[in-house]
Amino acid sequence: MKKIAVVEDNPDNQLLIQAILEDRYDIQFYNSGMEALKGIKKNPPDLILLDISLPEMDGTEVLNQLHADHDLRSIPVVALTAHAMAGDREKYLSCGFDDYITKPILSNRILISVIENWVQKGSELARPSNDS
Ligand code: MN
Repeated sequence: MKKIAVVEDNPDNQLLIQAILEDRYDIQFYNSGMEALKGIKKNPPDLILLDISLPEMDGTEVLNQLHADHDLRSIPVVALTAHAMAGDREKYLSCGFDDYITKPILSNRILISVIENWVQKGSELARPSNDS
C-alpha cells in the first residue's frame, strides 16, 4: 500500500480524508508543519497532502523546507486549501506545489484521482538540485 502523509490541523478534515482514503492508502496524519517535517524525514511517504493554513509554520514554508532537503524534494506535494480565489491555483503551482485541491472536499473522486495521478508520477520525478 502506498503511503500518504496528510498535514492538516482540522480534525473534521482529517476524519473526512481518512474516510475517503483509508481503504486505498496507508495514511499518516500530522497536525503541524514541524511535526510533519520530523515524521516525513523518518518515514518518507509517496505523496504529501499539505494544508496551507497551519499554526506556526504555514504550508508554503513546509514545502520550502521539504524542497531544501535532498531526500525529500522528489516527493509530490499537493496543496490542500480553503483559499480558492481566482489565480490561487497558479499561485500555488508557481510556489512549487505539484497540484492543488480546494476545501471543503466535495468530491471523493477528484481527491482520489489527483492523488493516484501524483503517486504514479512521483517516482518518475527528478527535481533539479539547488545545491550546485
Ligand atoms: Mn488548517
